[in-house]
Amino acid sequence: MRLILLGPPGAGKGTQALRLVAKYGIVQLSTGDMLRAAVKAGTPIGRQVKEIMDSGSLCPDGVVVEIVADRIAQPDARKGFILDGFPRTVPQAKALDRMLAQHGIKLDAAIELRVDEDALLKRIESRIAETKARGEALRADDNPAVLRQRLEAYRAQTAPLADYYRKKNVLRTVNGMASIADVTAAIDKALPSEPHALRAGSKKNDHASP
Ligand code: ADP
Repeated sequence: MRLILLGPPGAGKGTQALRLVAKYGIVQLSTGDMLRAAVKAGTPIGRQVKEIMDSGSLCPDGVVVEIVADRIAQPDARKGFILDGFPRTVPQAKALDRMLAQHGIKLDAAIELRVDEDALLKRIESRIAETKARGEALRADDNPAVLRQRLEAYRAQTAPLADYYRKKNVLRTVNGMASIADVTAAIDKALPSEPHALRAGSKKNDHASP
């Protein structure tokens, strides 16, 4: 199974990704996590993106595309993956199409979590409270001012991807305001019962439509 999760910050992408990972035995590829790891490790990429991330803006397409291309090529991604936080712009989506073609593989679905933006602020506030209660460090971008910037980036740069994937016939929209279990159930229902073969060209298992 190869999936994309689309949705604004706080929509519950991470939560649903973890459930899908457990259910399908696929890997979660979160560009946010990868970039935060680079910042923490102080790599050249990390130094380049730290301030951008802290402000809630998007990192340059080239940087993110390169990270994802490396990650998708690793052996553990062969059984399938769920992209969480990528693509976030149309150029990233086009770069992903090229990567998939290169590996001879196809997407099974792009799941869009639809949420009410007013409710997002409340969710982020409770995420901050829970993180503090666990005594864990807060993410630098977990604050209301930065959230507004992240929502703006989503609206302007990422929301158009819903159309992009609708045209490719892989968009599945789910109501992200329901309970976690209900969202999970809705995603399960929306996913194809027969995912594409692991490698295109292996005709025996390939139920892929062109
Ligand atoms: P969210 O809580 O919005 O899901 P993420 O953890 O996915 O946040 O991303 C945090 C930050 O990392 C973003 O605000 C952005 O600066 C950067 N980032 C993550 N993925 C991408 C991407 N695909 N393109 C550009 N920037 C990205």
